[in-house]
Amino acid sequence: NRRIVLASRPHGEPTPAHFRLEKAAVPVPRDGEVLLRNRYLSLDPYMRGRMSAAKSYAKPVEINEVMVGGTVAEVVASHRPDFSVGDTVVTSYGGWQDFAVSDGSDLRRIDPAAAPVSTALGVLGMPGMTAYTGLLNIGAPKPGETVVVAAATGPVGSLVGQIAKLKGARAVGIAGGADKCRHLTEELGFDAAVDHRTGDLPAALAAACPDGIDVYFENVGGAVFDAVLPLLNDFARIPVCGLVANYNMTELPPGPDKTPALMRAVLSRRLLFRGFIVWDFRDQLQDFLTDVSGWLREGRIHYREDVVEGLESAPEAFIGLLKGRNFGKLVVKL
Ligand code: NDP
Repeated sequence: NRRIVLASRPHGEPTPAHFRLEKAAVPVPRDGEVLLRNRYLSLDPYMRGRMSAAKSYAKPVEINEVMVGGTVAEVVASHRPDFSVGDTVVTSYGGWQDFAVSDGSDLRRIDPAAAPVSTALGVLGMPGMTAYTGLLNIGAPKPGETVVVAAATGPVGSLVGQIAKLKGARAVGIAGGADKCRHLTEELGFDAAVDHRTGDLPAALAAACPDGIDVYFENVGGAVFDAVLPLLNDFARIPVCGLVANYNMTELPPGPDKTPALMRAVLSRRLLFRGFIVWDFRDQLQDFLTDVSGWLREGRIHYREDVVEGLESAPEAFIGLLKGRNFGKLVVKL
């Protein structure tokens, strides 16, 4: 059993030295547990938070503990009546390792005939559900409105824009680089794409949003948020989903305190900011699966995966995820 543990806590950007690949015995499942062989490991931005000791909505990974991560796995031994050897499951805590044991509480069985199993980590998994629930419950786009999302080619952003289109809104995506921007308009049907890595982002975004912004699905923060704020219309809704531009930040950026200007905008334009964690909407899992798998089958939405090979590749791939080196949902094939 190979596994990757947290070797030390990063200050700023993680490096390969913060991770350690180890060999350990294959764990033995006890009564009420199953043994899983992980097949795909999901790499997600939230893992940066778990590498820090700072207080958050979930407890940190301890030093020398296996890195947390969702997986698609095969049941290879079962001491539970509800799971059988050969079942394919998606886990929340399969971790960065070849084998895992589970008491079943974090498992959901998936049908390998219905869709490629790796989609259970992306468009039909946690990131997809994040897009669906955050956009529909908080963003609530109406036909003709403008929806803006950054990290727009990732599993969350790409689905936000496509669902916005299905609801009759205009979708504007922000992404890093010409290839990603072309993918947004040519493959995913976004109305406009803006490259945040070149040129004058505030001017380019304003040109892409001639009627202002009604829904800003916040994935990144930083300079993107600064460009968005002046364009927000009265009564705009801002689901606050993630702040990936800040995850490696070690101190507040220099410059004037922007809080008074932000609060003035919130008040005068009656902006609604609401943070959420996908599992706040866990009772909508079935609706999400029904709707999104239906749209996929009908060819009304598309997804893209970035698959890297081998557990040993996970640290580098994860480091790259925080800098936009991935193109699509990042998964490791084990
Ligand atoms: P992605 O696959 O989209 O990866 C993150 C992307 O962020 C990168 O590819 C990069 O894309 C972009 N990025 C990185 N740094 C910056 C920056 N400084 N400015 C602008 N963009 C940047 O990730 P996901 O789709 O998995 O996640 C998207 C967001 O959703 C994250 O913030 C994540 O934490 C959050 N999330 C929140 C959940 C919740 O429950 N609240 C659940 C799941 C995800 P590019 O090259 O285009 O810049």
